[in-house]
Formats: sequence, structure tokens, C-alpha cells
Amino acid sequence: MRVAIIGAGPAGLFLGSALAGRGHDVVAVDRDAGPPADGRWARPGVMQFHHAHGFRPQVGRALEQEWPDALAAWLALGAEPVTFTVPGMDRAAAGHRSRRDTFERALRAAAATVPRLTIRQGHVDGVLTSGGRVRGLVVDGSPVDADLVVDASGRSGRSVDSLRDPSVVGGACGMAYVDREYRLRDGAEPGPLFNGLAWQADLDGYQVLVFLHERGYLSVVLVRPTADAALKDLRHQAAFEAVCRAVPGLAEWTDPERVEPASSVLPGGPLRNTYRGQRSRDGRPCTPGLVSVGDAVATTTPIFGRGVATTFVQALRLLALLDGEADPRLVGEPFGAWCEENMRPWVVDHVTMDGDAVRRWEGGDVDLSRRLPSDLILAAAEQDPAILAATGGYLSMLQLPSSLDPVEPRARAVYESGWRPAFAPGPSRGELREVVAAALRGSRGTPDRQALPSSRG
Ligand SMILES: Cc1cc2nc3c(=O)[nH]c(=O)nc-3n(C[C@H](O)[C@H](O)[C@H](O)COP(=O)(O)OP(=O)(O)OC[C@H]3O[C@@H](n4cnc5c(N)ncnc54)[C@H](O)[C@@H]3O)c2cc1C
Repeated sequence: MRVAIIGAGPAGLFLGSALAGRGHDVVAVDRDAGPPADGRWARPGVMQFHHAHGFRPQVGRALEQEWPDALAAWLALGAEPVTFTVPGMDRAAAGHRSRRDTFERALRAAAATVPRLTIRQGHVDGVLTSGGRVRGLVVDGSPVDADLVVDASGRSGRSVDSLRDPSVVGGACGMAYVDREYRLRDGAEPGPLFNGLAWQADLDGYQVLVFLHERGYLSVVLVRPTADAALKDLRHQAAFEAVCRAVPGLAEWTDPERVEPASSVLPGGPLRNTYRGQRSRDGRPCTPGLVSVGDAVATTTPIFGRGVATTFVQALRLLALLDGEADPRLVGEPFGAWCEENMRPWVVDHVTMDGDAVRRWEGGDVDLSRRLPSDLILAAAEQDPAILAATGGYLSMLQLPSSLDPVEPRARAVYESGWRPAFAPGPSRGELREVVAAALRGSRGTPDRQALPSSRG
């Protein structure tokens, strides 16, 4: 079978290698030229490329199963496997510490050695169709024939929009973020940790996170309500650094004796949670010969670090369907049904959770008139340990968010008693605005030293 893939990001490369390994002829087309031999990989088509990433165990497991050479390349570039204790499940793999850049460099390097897989640089203008099915791609104006087209074009991909049902579940979630990469100084110990991959603090009106990467690299992430326009100024180095000093946990992490900056402050866009199924514009369950996968199907905010895991879990499912189906035109429909059942709930979970978090950031109380969002169920375990034992499946993503339903009434009882999760120590969002404004007043005339590149090494 000839397979043409739109996009050579994690979804495109993983599927491309696995399908080529099954004897198919695969071309993955991406407008990106791939990593340069030296220096920074700009990757303009993937806005989150230089932003904080953590990698769940599903990612390493999928590579081990389908593409061990890529896992070996990732480990050789420094990716660090970590373990933690999952409630009710003993010690388990927690995932890998790695920068996204490091991860994708490993995939690209391994992909270059896969027989029958071609990575072609170009822009996919659209798809070739006839007889109600997709028959290939148009790349920079020229046709590329294929028996199956895989849309792995990410959350901003548009090249199959003319065929796909435009309706999406979710949208912008009301949160925006800014982050910066640091590196531990030689011999310095990490700061406070929540688990082996990250540290998180929920303050009055906003959230801060630290993601650990490989070889001492780490990212500090500040998440704010999009509506709080004054906090757009967090993108300025003086403001970012002032906030890091003002939030006690971050002050520990970013102590100049512990870390040094490894990048400029990286402004991110508004965060999104979206699900888009396989249905075609003309109402069919799918367009025969076309299947969408990865972020093109499900995009979630990074707070739980789920995106690459949901991408690879989808890819494994698609491979299993293709393995059992001689006619590739027919996989879109069962894959779509599987995505509805197994991917959509994660997006809906984020839509509910993130939307409600923003509402509470604006002063709203816990809403007991509907099912509690998953983060509030998890938080209630602090008061009722019986809840904790039921959270492992959700936290590890081995079970769907509905696995928390049986303990939701216990969590509800905790909130009905009047208990509320305490804010982590640090300024409220109103106070944070003052910290930011004062930092900018103090730095007037001092240009942002924003030229520091995201370093490699
Ligand atoms: C801020 C942020 C932080 C995140 N943090 C995490 C995290 O901690 N952990 C985690 O697991 N996930 C995280 N994610 C999610 C993760 O980045 C995505 O799940 C992942 O990128 C999905 O991979 P993909 O291959 O589906 O899409 P992408 O990585 O977006 O790749 C799509 C590719 O398609 C190419 N393309 C698109 N259209 C065309 C065209 N017409 N012609 C040619 N090429 C095209 C693009 O150039 C790109 O290379 C985060 C996301 C965001 C936004």
C-alpha cells in the first residue's frame, strides 16, 4: 500500500515508521526541513515546540513496541526514564524527562534510517479526490498518489478542511501561559517536586508549574486567565523574573545559585482543548481513504502533559485496525468510533476542568450543582484517603475520566462539609499584577535581554 502522511511531527513520524516497517511505501510530507546540523531548530509550524513538555509512559512504551530504534536514539540524546508510585498501583513508569526538541530530533534521526519511509519537505496544499474517496495529496502543486492519506497535521493543520466535518468539541479554554527554560548548575539539586516529572502550585487566581527535562534542563511555566490582559506583561524578562522571586516554590527553583536561564522568556498562545472526529462534511462517518490522527483529532492543554500520549495511543489503535483490514479505505469508520469512545472523553474532561478552574480563578466557589471536575475530585483525596485509591487509573491514563465517577460522591461530601483546597503560598493574582507592574517600572530603559537562544548541549 502507498501511504501519504501530512506532517512529520510525532504522529506522522511514528506512524510512518511503523507502516514502513510493515512493508508499505510511505511518504511523510512536512514544510519543516528538519533539525539543522548545528544550532537551534526553529520549527515555526509547531508553536509549542520550544515550550515545556513532559512525556507520559505511553510514549516510551509505544516506541519500545513499534520503534525501538527511536527509543534508543532518544535515550542516547539524554532522555531520562523516571518512575513514581501510582495510587493503588504500586511503583510504575512515570514517563521520560526530555525537551520536546530532544524528542523530535531523536524521531527525525531514527526516521532517516527506516527503509521505505521518505520524509519530503513541502507544503501540502490539499488532497486528491475522486469517486467519493481520497486518492492522494497535492504537494506544492504536484500530485502524490496514495491508497491511504493520514492527516497528522497537528492542531493547526488545515489541508483536509474541505473534507472534514468542521464541528469541534471545545475551543480556547480561557488560559494562557508563558514559560522559560533553565538548566541546573553543575552539582545543584532539583527544587521541590510533585512527582518525578513536574512540580505544580495552584495559587489564588493562577497556576505555576515546573517541568523537568533531560540533563538538568527544566521549564518554568506560568498559567494565567487569558482575560487578565495586564499579565500579558509576564512575557517581559523583568516581570517573569520578579514573579519567580515572589512565588516561594518558584523562588527555590529559580534561585541563581541553583539554575541559570537557558532560553529567553517564551510567550505562548491561548491554550485549547479540542476534539474533532473523522466525520466528513457530507455527513458520512469518514471520508474513505483519509484518516486524521494525533492533535488533528484531540488537543488538550499541557497541564497534565497528555498530548503526545494520546497521539501515540491513537497511532497504536490505527495500526491495529490497519493490521486487521485489507482495504485501508475502511479503517476511518472504526477508528472514528474508537476515537469517540476513547479520545473525546479526555478532551471533554479538560474542557470541564480547565473552564471551571478559570471560573474559580475569578473568585467562583466549587459548583456542587453538577459533577465535580476531575481536578477537584483528586484534590479532595487530601481529606478522604479512600478517594486516592481510585485515582490511579485516571492519573496514569490507563482508565478513562469516568473511572473517577464512583468516588465523585465522596469528593462531593468533602466539599459539602465546607472544605476547600488551600492556595499554595504566594501572591494572589491581584498582587501578582502589582509585582509585574513594579518590575516593569523598575526595568524601564533596560532592554529585555531576550536574545538568549534555547540552547542545545
Ligand atoms: C504549550 C503546549 C505544551 C504541551 N506540552 C505537552 C506535554 O507536556 N506533554 C505532551 O505529551 N504533550 C504536550 N503538548 C501536546 C503535544 O505538543 C502535541 O500533542 C503533539 O505535538 C502532537 O503531535 P502531532 O504530530 O499530532 O502534531 P504536530 O506536532 O503539530 O505536528 C504536525 C506537523 O504537521 C506539519 N504540517 C501541518 N500542516 C502541513 C501542511 N499543510 N503541509 C506540510 N506540513 C504540514 C507541521 O509542520 C508539523 O510538523 C503540548 C502542547 C502545547 C500547545
